[in-house]
Amino acid sequence: MTTMTAYQLPSWQGTPKLSTVPVPEPGPGEVLVRVSAVGLCHSDINMQQIPAEVGNMLGWSVPFTLGHEISGTVAALGDGVTGFAPGDAVAVSATNPCGVCWYCLRGDDQNCVLPGGRGYGADGGLAVYVIVSRAAHLLPIGDLDPAFAAPLTDAGATAYHAVQRVLPKLSPDATAVVLGTGGLGGYAVQFLHLLGAARVIGVEPNEARRELALSLGADEALDGVHEGTAAEILERTGGRGAEVVLDFVGVDATI
Ligand SMILES: [Zn+2]
Ligand SMILES: [Zn+2]
Repeated sequence: MTTMTAYQLPSWQGTPKLSTVPVPEPGPGEVLVRVSAVGLCHSDINMQQIPAEVGNMLGWSVPFTLGHEISGTVAALGDGVTGFAPGDAVAVSATNPCGVCWYCLRGDDQNCVLPGGRGYGADGGLAVYVIVSRAAHLLPIGDLDPAFAAPLTDAGATAYHAVQRVLPKLSPDATAVVLGTGGLGGYAVQFLHLLGAARVIGVEPNEARRELALSLGADEALDGVHEGTAAEILERTGGRGAEVVLDFVGVDATI
């Protein structure tokens, strides 16, 4: 049996550690991917705090390998897989939809009945190899830098989804406020800048991230969030306020 190193959550509320596990073999319809890069997500930290009752309720089982923002190259194909060949560079969907349940068939695959996914309840990408249950979860990335591609599958996709929903509100004279310009908000600033003509104001307490937001396309970056933030935005918009506020922090103060 060939083995590999994997960074696993060993038990509910346990401390993640490097483990030696078998290299998985792809079953029918599955694809074995050799991992090139994995984005780290705040969920990777949250998962370490999940109590056993909640994990069980979610239908997840421990141990599992962490890492759900994955890029890599196709290593082996299970029976029946077409459209990919060993060596193909791919990004791996951060979700794990079955493709055949009622939710998946109507396009709401985020509500798929399958419990968990790669890196959350099932083995993820913080290992040498990862099993992808359906080839439909793979997106060819050509010669795109795999380290650039990996976080697009979750952090990038989450911010893109938020921005796409509000695009109709972003007329050229509109203002969009992004609360928190870290891992998610940094992407939102870029999508707002690239996809719309609205003025983008980042609100972020960390100075380095404010600088980053400006370099990524924000027109202004305010130090916040604090009691005076709303008044400051009203003042900067001539009393009109922002057409869109995207909250990428989600704590009491930002809400
Ligand atoms: Zn995540
Ligand atoms: Zn499904």
